Amino acid sequence: MTRSQMYVYAFGGPKAEGSAKMKSLLGGKGANLAEMTNIGVPVPAGFTISTEVCRHFTENHQNYPVGLEKLVTDNIHRVEHIMERKFAADKGVPLLFSCRSGAPISMPGMMDTVLDLGLNDKNVLSYAEATGDPTFAWDCYRRLVQMYSNVVLGLEHGLLEHDLTEYKALVGKKLDVEMNAEDWQAVVERFRTTLQTHLGHFIPQDPHEQLWGAIRAVFLSWNNTRARTYRRLHDIPDNLGTAVNVQAMVFGNMSDNSATGVAFSRNPATGEREVYGEFLIHAQGEDIVAGIRTPSPVNEISRSGDNKEPSLEKTMPGLYQEFKTVINRLEVHYHDVQDVEFTIEEGKLWMLQTRSGKRSGRAAIEIALDMLKEGLIDEKTALLRVDPRDHINEMLHPRIDPTADRSHSLVRGLAASPGSAVGQIVFDADTAEARAKKGDKVLLVRHETSAEDIHGMAAAVGILTATGGLTSHAAVVARSMGKPCVSGVSEIHFSKDKKSIHIGETVLAENDWVTIDGATGQVFAGKLPLVKADIGGRFAEFMAMADKYRRLGVRANADTPADARRAVELGAQGIGLCRTEHMFFETEERLTAMRAGIFAVSDVEQNAAFERLLPIQQQDFEEILEAMDGLPVTIRLLDPPLHEFIPSKANELASFAAALGIPLDRVNHRIEELHESNPMLGHRGCRLGITHPNLYGMQVRAIVRAAIARKRAGGNPIPEIMIPLVAHLGELHFLRLRSEAIIKEELEAAGLDFHIHIGTMIEIPRAALVADRIATDAEFFSFGTNDLTQMTFGISRDDTAHFLPQYMEMGVLTHDPFETIDINGVGQLMQMATEKGRATRPGMSVGICGEQGGEPKSVAFCHKIGLTYVSCSPFRVPNARLAAAQAAITQD
Ligand code: PEP
Ligand code: MG
Repeated sequence: MTRSQMYVYAFGGPKAEGSAKMKSLLGGKGANLAEMTNIGVPVPAGFTISTEVCRHFTENHQNYPVGLEKLVTDNIHRVEHIMERKFAADKGVPLLFSCRSGAPISMPGMMDTVLDLGLNDKNVLSYAEATGDPTFAWDCYRRLVQMYSNVVLGLEHGLLEHDLTEYKALVGKKLDVEMNAEDWQAVVERFRTTLQTHLGHFIPQDPHEQLWGAIRAVFLSWNNTRARTYRRLHDIPDNLGTAVNVQAMVFGNMSDNSATGVAFSRNPATGEREVYGEFLIHAQGEDIVAGIRTPSPVNEISRSGDNKEPSLEKTMPGLYQEFKTVINRLEVHYHDVQDVEFTIEEGKLWMLQTRSGKRSGRAAIEIALDMLKEGLIDEKTALLRVDPRDHINEMLHPRIDPTADRSHSLVRGLAASPGSAVGQIVFDADTAEARAKKGDKVLLVRHETSAEDIHGMAAAVGILTATGGLTSHAAVVARSMGKPCVSGVSEIHFSKDKKSIHIGETVLAENDWVTIDGATGQVFAGKLPLVKADIGGRFAEFMAMADKYRRLGVRANADTPADARRAVELGAQGIGLCRTEHMFFETEERLTAMRAGIFAVSDVEQNAAFERLLPIQQQDFEEILEAMDGLPVTIRLLDPPLHEFIPSKANELASFAAALGIPLDRVNHRIEELHESNPMLGHRGCRLGITHPNLYGMQVRAIVRAAIARKRAGGNPIPEIMIPLVAHLGELHFLRLRSEAIIKEELEAAGLDFHIHIGTMIEIPRAALVADRIATDAEFFSFGTNDLTQMTFGISRDDTAHFLPQYMEMGVLTHDPFETIDINGVGQLMQMATEKGRATRPGMSVGICGEQGGEPKSVAFCHKIGLTYVSCSPFRVPNARLAAAQAAITQD
């Protein structure tokens, strides 16, 4: 085989050149078309131009590799032979092609597609004659002109749509199916005039030129804005490239004995084990995806809302059975839920595409556990089938309080993506994005969504659309984002200026509050109360299975007893970081005492102020230790610089001084003293502890006393004292001795004897470098990867907004290091510090408590370097548990 032969792979007919294993080269769609061919599923013949060509095209000023043209020509001949039709024929039924993208990782609707390639002014006539159906032939031609103009020629989107609407109004027709051959021909003439006016030419008349134009447009679409946004949101590398699938067209719009549809082998919202999908008689696939007509269900189980259309099962029972057999066979072959596109042309079933079906979080868990029971997959595969971020997040989404009054539902649409959302209406994606950036909760209301809306959908709390079925763009994208979505609400009518909608009598304008329930399809005016997600049922069963496989412990970052309780509910095995500073802000009394300590002029005065805080802190710790009884609770001594406790507004200082009973001058003087040029690198963490012995002293005393109280109450408290911002062994050694003295004093006074671990955060690069020395005094380490990233990169963690997002957009960085551990840099320090620490203190506990601790890729890295646990916010504990199990399964 020569090198150039590897650029194009044939499928359809008796045997394909590719297989399902070749996704990176053929893209998901191409690989599966090849696989379907090889297992005898009826697939219209075609060929896949590989992702390698896309990379070559992108890297070589949009030039193709040598030899590609001949390979394409040879493959066109092959398809002509199999389909018994000729491309660019002037007589009879010509062969027409579709040209679709197909990336190695599915990016639904993000790239371009052109259908009906090969028709022109001349052969549309012979086509009409040969099929005896001129309406069909002209319909195909106008579709080609429309798609080609938009996708390949870059004509402004609404222009031809406008021509069509105007024509329909003129002849008093509403639906496409009401149009006849003369109508479509007249529409094509209108299109021709518009194209001449705006571009100076019509679409190319040479079918080969059309095809190459389409191939080029699809390759170019790999780098369009919406595809790039999608890749960023879904963490898909930019250099994968897309394949291009050129496939013989079959026609669901040929007659009333033709149809097109999309279906899943199981319900993608609930996981129920039944074919689930929708179809349209006398239509092409794009009609369903675009959501222009609301489709009919394939069977009764798929019926949703008040859709009254007859099902495929009823209309074409024989074909339905044949279809069901094929889709079930595909599921068994792939051992996973399949999402298929099919077309029936004059009573013959063709499968156009199969891929692993996107599913809701709930469905993912149901399906994984069901398939495990059915023997289709093993436990490890079942665990890998649930996404630790998207699926689990979605399970944790809020829903409408079950006790809330739901009787005033405005309307019910399709339950397109589960979860409930309350937001202010916005009508376009840009506004949604801008408002969300300001912190507003917006709900995107659209007639239908398209790939152009992706950034708005990502920014909105929920999505509501007037048209479109369960597999429409809005539904599929919302489900994959884990966003609540209600689609197909045909009762929604937009005002002329698109600034309001009405649903029956109710008018809703931009900014009005609305609540949607993506699980039932209900829409409510105003705000309904939401409650936290229900993660009962099989969620616990699934998570218990995950726990069997993971080696990493999972703790929570929790500062309050309520957080601690929630963390335990979600499976936390302790607290990895209790930030004590938050406690000082909880009440006025606490804050005043803290401030009195900061403004004290003498040691005695300061001690008295902090003494007031001692019982309050003790009470906090007692409650947290109680919630975490028998589990370790790592309490960090105060970390932030003291100026954070002082009012920042000048006009508040007078009343502040009065409240403390000290002159305003003294306040101002002290504020000047506390001023630092760079507080993040200033007087904070252990530096504060060393210079303010009363402060850390009070905190250590509160911790020991809380533990003593819990012991006396029959509990099993396991507090751990964590010293922040240590750079040098000297700092830790000093504070450790001081803390141990207090612990000893308190225990002796109580007549008790137990050990409290003292450890440190590793959040300064120097600490990582000398971790072996630091471990002589630290009984445990916890990586503070927020600060460690800040200091390793030299990027202020509070000032990333100006450039990090742009870095990601421009491909300078692939990940935000504050979200995902920078494995090569910060990760290297972590690995080294862990090894050095354990060389001094074998088997020492090493955790992570920075924000990255709940992010699946970072969790996988922590597993790899042998950390003891990860610690993250309570709501991310389940994500981390599953990510840790997956890391164990894939790495060990
Ligand atoms: C850290 O730096 O990673 C950390 C957990 O501490 P904080 O975010 O409170 O600085
Ligand atoms: Mg820190």
